Amino acid sequence: MDVPVSGSISENIRFVLEQIRLATRQAGRPEGSVRLVAATKSVGLDQLREGIASGLTILGENRLQEALPKVEGLRGAPVQWHFIGHLQRRKVRSVVGVFDLIHSVDSLELAEEIEKRAQEAGVRQAVLLEVNLEGEATKTGFRPGELEGLLPRLGALPHVEVKGLMAIPPPTSDPEQSRPYFRRLRELAERLSHQSVGTVSLKELSMGMSSDYAVAVEEGATMVRVGTAIFGARRG
Ligand SMILES: *Cc1c(COP(=O)(O)O)cnc(C)c1O
Repeated sequence: MDVPVSGSISENIRFVLEQIRLATRQAGRPEGSVRLVAATKSVGLDQLREGIASGLTILGENRLQEALPKVEGLRGAPVQWHFIGHLQRRKVRSVVGVFDLIHSVDSLELAEEIEKRAQEAGVRQAVLLEVNLEGEATKTGFRPGELEGLLPRLGALPHVEVKGLMAIPPPTSDPEQSRPYFRRLRELAERLSHQSVGTVSLKELSMGMSSDYAVAVEEGATMVRVGTAIFGARRG
């Protein structure tokens, strides 16, 4: 799929939302069942304001130091913030309660740290579990095989609300290469839903980026994380 990065931010947003709508319909899914999370790393406040004015409602950051000044700068704006990057345990305290959803919980230890900090803050923190479907050594995330055993323990954390799964397929220039990967994530969520426990729900599937979000929607994504196709290519 072409990634049009030459348009204005508002043109790009209109294009991406239209592609999502078409892919949703193509898959026979209800309209509005997919949310666009704008990936905002290295994007400045002015561009974010333009994006919000053009219809963005969820901003996803993966670097905490970068995110906090933006959260501050856009206070009062009608947006949700999601944390989509790798989260270190020592940074959990600054993330809990600030972000509406953490997409990237990749270990039981991290979930337990979130539990502790959310309890202190008196909030319940919504999270997704990041899955490393192929067991790539360079990647963080739960292995599919360990999730079943861990769900009861995750479900027993009263201040952590598991809402679904997230995955990042290996990079490829051909979105069709990602399709089986997306499908496996959806099938894993379906399989695990049958034995999910406590507060655990696996309804949300965060998958698909600029190069393959339409395919992800066809395969069941409920959230796509799109940066380049909205804001253009990043430096650094
Ligand atoms: C940057 C990023 C994205 C968006 O990637 P693009 O290819 O720019 O759309 C999505 N998810 C995560 C975790 C990211 O870090």
